[in-house]
Amino acid sequence: MNFSDLGLSPEILTAVNDSGYTTPTPIQEQAIPYVLMGRDVLGCAQTGTGKTAGFTLPMIDILSSGRARARMPRSLIIAPTRELAAQVSENFEKYGKHGKLSMALLIGGSSFVEQEKKLDRGVDVLIATPGRLLDLFERGKILLADVKILVIDEADRMLDMGFIPDVERIVSLLPKIRQTLFFSATMAPEIRRLADAFLMNPKEISVDPPASAAETVTQALVKVSGDSKMKRMALRSLITSEEVKSGIVFCNRKRDVDIVFKSLKRHEFSVCALHGDMAQPVRMETLDDFKNGKADIMVCSDVAARGLDIPAVSHVFNFDVPINAEDYVHRIGRTGRAGRSGKAYTLALPEEARALSNVVSTVKRDIPLVEVEGIDAWTPEEEADGRSRKRRGGRKSEPRGRKTSSSSRKSDDANTHLKVVSDRDEDPAKAEQPDVVEETRKPRRQAAAKTPRASRAKAVPTRDRDQDDAAEESSNAFGDHTPAFMLRPAQVA
Ligand code: AMP
Repeated sequence: MNFSDLGLSPEILTAVNDSGYTTPTPIQEQAIPYVLMGRDVLGCAQTGTGKTAGFTLPMIDILSSGRARARMPRSLIIAPTRELAAQVSENFEKYGKHGKLSMALLIGGSSFVEQEKKLDRGVDVLIATPGRLLDLFERGKILLADVKILVIDEADRMLDMGFIPDVERIVSLLPKIRQTLFFSATMAPEIRRLADAFLMNPKEISVDPPASAAETVTQALVKVSGDSKMKRMALRSLITSEEVKSGIVFCNRKRDVDIVFKSLKRHEFSVCALHGDMAQPVRMETLDDFKNGKADIMVCSDVAARGLDIPAVSHVFNFDVPINAEDYVHRIGRTGRAGRSGKAYTLALPEEARALSNVVSTVKRDIPLVEVEGIDAWTPEEEADGRSRKRRGGRKSEPRGRKTSSSSRKSDDANTHLKVVSDRDEDPAKAEQPDVVEETRKPRRQAAAKTPRASRAKAVPTRDRDQDDAAEESSNAFGDHTPAFMLRPAQVA
């Protein structure tokens, strides 16, 4: 099938051609004709499948007739993170360059004044994160009564970040007669409930089974016996032996982003860092540096897991096993994009065994184990010990029971190599065990849905707080409270 078979206008086809796309991706092939027909769409699609163009291209055509009135956007796209929202706006700019659509991007961390000026002039497309949008609405700066097309992007991420009450409120402010396009990488029951509430007779499109990892990404697991210091050593070995020129390292916590960044810098890697504590302009600048190849490695938190679209990323390193197993899918989806191949390494300590089991059951396949020279893999005893320590909420500070000799310790960097080994020793029964973190997350989500709005500020992240901070805080298994022992100054090696 060609783009010209989808019913798009000549202007859009020119823009598509300028982008160098020759054939529509499966989600584009399936979604575009239905969006053009005015149907609601429920799209279950992984990142990297081309879903942004899947809704942007037909929307530009639909909106090309008609005019926006002051403060009354004609279409609204809600995205969970600033980066993702910014990326959607880049798509509108790229594909809409032959038309006259006006657009505003409402995200935290950038100037209100500029955004308000644009809204005052009237915009066809408004792209926003939920918090910033509600802020503006409640200050009377925006009216949502003229929204004819609503896009909810990355709905499962909104759920994880506690934004569903805000999204529900936004939807309640929109006209009942509208076209709604709802996208999610996974279709958990809660997401399905929302889709049922927001959509009317939608065309359901699924381009990949929920939560399946990208086929183009080669996954590998390194079981690291010891502590974070050993993980940093393993990470350096991998980056060096793989000669990584464009790689992303994901950490669960902002604090670890800083530590890993400093460590890599000290070891003279070309590295930059990205997390939610940084000012928005710095975040954008860092991303640009990485995209433009000024830094080979970007260390980041999950803030970047969804929004990043950097086609050339060859490697993803999970410095930590993600606490929310679905994040694993999104993290590794940063590589192997648009048909390219990529590699995703996950470094796991024994105490992460349970989170790892959860990831394995989410992606429904074992992650092949690899050995890194100089790094001992953990034993079943260490795993059992790690699991029980994790249950007690403890965190290991020093390497325990490390069997590595000082000579192998020295073989830290360039002279290391990888060896694929069988993962047959994994006890399959362990993979079946429920994940402690998921158990604690679910009640929080339910609480979020039920907590009255006034008291919700403390219970779940709302627009009063940085959305990305919220995501990162929720990555801490201790919720909003960080025990003192986790705050001790870290030794960076
Ligand atoms: P997305 O899943 O929307 O983040 O898109 C992933 C990447 O695929 C982006 O870099 C797009 O520019 C690219 N892309 C989108 N549609 C196509 C297409 N039809 N052919 C090739 N690349 C595409």
